[in-house]
Amino acid sequence: MAVCTTCPYCGVGCGVLATVHPDGAVTVKGDPDHPANFGRLCSKGSALGETVNTDGRLLNPRIGDRAVSWDEALAQVADRFVATIRDYGPDSVAFYVSGQITTEDYYVANKLMKGFIGSANIDTNSRLCMASSVAGHRRAFGSDTVPGSYEDLEQADLIVLVGSNLAWCHPVLYQRIAAARNKRPDLKVVLIDPRRTMTADIADLHLAIRPDGDVSLFLGLLRYLADHDKLDLDYIEAHTNGFEEALETCGHAPVAVAAATGLSQDELQRFYALFADAEKTVTVYSQGVNQSVVGTDKVNAIINCHLATGRIGRPGMGPFSVTGQPNAMGGREVGGLANMLAAHMDIENPEHCDTVGRFWSAPTIADRAGLKAVDMFRAVADGRIKAIWIMATNPVDSMPDADGVAAALETCPFVVVSDVIAETDTTRLADVRLPSLAWGEKDGTVTNSERRISRQRTFLEGPGEARADWWQMAEVAKRMGFGHAFDWTSPAEIFSEYAALTAFENNGVRDLDIGAYAGIESDAYNSLKPFQWPQPAGVSPISSRFFANGGFFTPDRKARFVAVKTPAKPVEQDAYPFVLNTGRIRDHWHTMTRTGKSPRLSGHIAEPFAELHPGDADRLGVADADIVEVSSDRGVARVRALVTERQLPGAVFVPMHWTDQFSACARIDAVVAPVTDPHSGQPASKATAVVVRRYVAALFGFAIMAGKPNRPDADYWTIGRIAAGWRLEFAHSQYPEDVENFARKLLGLRERAQLLVFRDGRRGDHRIAAFEESRLAGVVYLSTQPVAVSRSWAIEQLAADHDDLSARWRVVAGRPGADMPDKGAIICACFGVGANEIEGAVRSGCDTVEAVGKATCAGTNCGSCKSEIREIIDDCRIVAAE
Ligand code: SF4
Repeated sequence: MAVCTTCPYCGVGCGVLATVHPDGAVTVKGDPDHPANFGRLCSKGSALGETVNTDGRLLNPRIGDRAVSWDEALAQVADRFVATIRDYGPDSVAFYVSGQITTEDYYVANKLMKGFIGSANIDTNSRLCMASSVAGHRRAFGSDTVPGSYEDLEQADLIVLVGSNLAWCHPVLYQRIAAARNKRPDLKVVLIDPRRTMTADIADLHLAIRPDGDVSLFLGLLRYLADHDKLDLDYIEAHTNGFEEALETCGHAPVAVAAATGLSQDELQRFYALFADAEKTVTVYSQGVNQSVVGTDKVNAIINCHLATGRIGRPGMGPFSVTGQPNAMGGREVGGLANMLAAHMDIENPEHCDTVGRFWSAPTIADRAGLKAVDMFRAVADGRIKAIWIMATNPVDSMPDADGVAAALETCPFVVVSDVIAETDTTRLADVRLPSLAWGEKDGTVTNSERRISRQRTFLEGPGEARADWWQMAEVAKRMGFGHAFDWTSPAEIFSEYAALTAFENNGVRDLDIGAYAGIESDAYNSLKPFQWPQPAGVSPISSRFFANGGFFTPDRKARFVAVKTPAKPVEQDAYPFVLNTGRIRDHWHTMTRTGKSPRLSGHIAEPFAELHPGDADRLGVADADIVEVSSDRGVARVRALVTERQLPGAVFVPMHWTDQFSACARIDAVVAPVTDPHSGQPASKATAVVVRRYVAALFGFAIMAGKPNRPDADYWTIGRIAAGWRLEFAHSQYPEDVENFARKLLGLRERAQLLVFRDGRRGDHRIAAFEESRLAGVVYLSTQPVAVSRSWAIEQLAADHDDLSARWRVVAGRPGADMPDKGAIICACFGVGANEIEGAVRSGCDTVEAVGKATCAGTNCGSCKSEIREIIDDCRIVAAE
């Protein structure tokens, strides 16, 4: 029987039906009854079944390299924390947690740190994702409230997407908008993003704004709305404060806006007129807004425009922050951020501290903000923090100045890491490793971007001795002497306590109230359906939106306009002339500990890359598929060049996913500077000054093999899963002298393997294929240029039969025969359909995505590749017209 649970990836929070088959295989499909996705899933969600195996799992508690009992590990953690607090005070310890853990896990971590240890040094990787939205909400609304719901996207007449590549990062929301546009072509979409991402596919207008030009753009919009009599003066008067000051700081010069944004007057006018005329407008924003030194100001500049037009809290209207992680919102709710208390209470508010302290019967309660993520790791580095517990996250890859974070952890006297994976770039620096339950094994709740709380349910047994994160913390708390407050026996009991806290002395003065679930019993918790908060006790479900009629959570219940100023122009640095933008790709998640297990997901984009504008590439002497080095004053990353008109001149985009487990030198966060927004503490992960250089390679290589490859002795390499084994791309400054020996070592061949070697005398290239009986054990292509072999075809050869000598020579030649067309780069991960196959379908007359889908199946399952299919159709049209 299928189990209803929730996808563990992005903040859309899709409902999933998971089925475990008698052979142990897991299949998933979208839950048609879940209000976030109504049955849809994206490529990552669809492939969840491929990622739940136990490969690489941490199975036992370990102290150093020694497997130990839970009792010994927990005692060690408790003793070291107690001793550190005794000797150096509560602020000498810290927790660094994650938007991957459940709300119940988060609640326990926060209660232990803020109520019993007495420090607020607990922060979360959600700091890297949406802290600026939290700060912006609190400045404007007096509370961290997302006012709207996903259905507003379908009810709007205009959707403005700011710094948000929804097509790849929140694919099901993208699909919902695309479907709404199909039904209602009058629905307009504006995309504001320096890159022409795949989301541009549904945009009527794409504004390729200069990095961090958003504040100026929205200040200009507020001025335009005022000048064109488009304000809702009644709403401003009745429900807000500070409008005049905010308008005053907007300035009056459209020319200045054009200069600050890099947009033409015509583009600005088109956007402003669209916004002014569409009452039902939703402005969606995510990391492109949040990850900036002016992230909070960007959020408030957007909110100001919605407050000024009264477009908030009504159907189809409102500012809408979408979160990156599955439970970023749940963490915010229970105080996972160092500057908040539980249940949306303020740490700087003595009454709130008293309320939470009494509710918990806490011996001590933190009454000032703790260290936010970047400052927390600085404190580890300089010795102020002497013991840190990291849960479900990989800061050695994901934090800015990632090498500095690694160095800090190396010198930290005591590092505990709770994780599901044994070997990550962070676990290798831990003194104690605690095995946690993974998705499918754990049990709890998560909250998505529209305040909808859903259950993550158990459908698999945890392997080895893995245990829930909440249980690990509660056991440590007991050993620290706080047992009475941490004696839950199930997540249902924790949820019940949390729900009671939201209602405790609330009486409508706080936005977050789910008192209806205080005292919930196990059976009701187990069958809990997704619901949106607020849900106070004793009243039937109330409106799913906030603020249509004011009622903000400020002392006078009015919203605050924030008088945002135009940010100063960044100082140009000759030595670092490019702006580095980091982000996600369609089919990978964070540091690839799960998606890296799936051949399907690894097939779409197999290597880390740097997107460069053709003009810049020309100037740098970089060609497509060259290797480039992207460096800042912090570090360097080596990745594949991807030359594309999608990129703005002077900018470079590199994905965040590749770690030392998958690549030689591609941890892009080692390059990102630890510069933060002053209000939110969120790192500016999209605007590091960098230099880009061509890496001069004497050798390029591509290999496939059945077994996991040995790490090559090469300056650049990347490994990835394929259906029957592994693929490897590499480049180096020297060509190997003994190519046979090089290949044998790389492929880890046994003696009996037979080699077929081909040397192209003219180019000096080599191809070496190894066979064991009729089976291809591996093949290596070496060249002085980027290897021009069809990857998808070569990968298929690993599972093919090679009895026939001509088939063997085709592998060596790296060319499919005439009867085996090269499908090209994989576009549709679900059905393994390549770009060449899609192009073929278009050339034979398929001129819509639907027609291509009928002919090839591409895009007919999860639909995540539809924007790429549409782009191929458009490209073919352009070529035909030329
Ligand atoms: Fe998961 Fe995709 Fe839904 Fe995000 S959009 S929750 S990754 S299925």
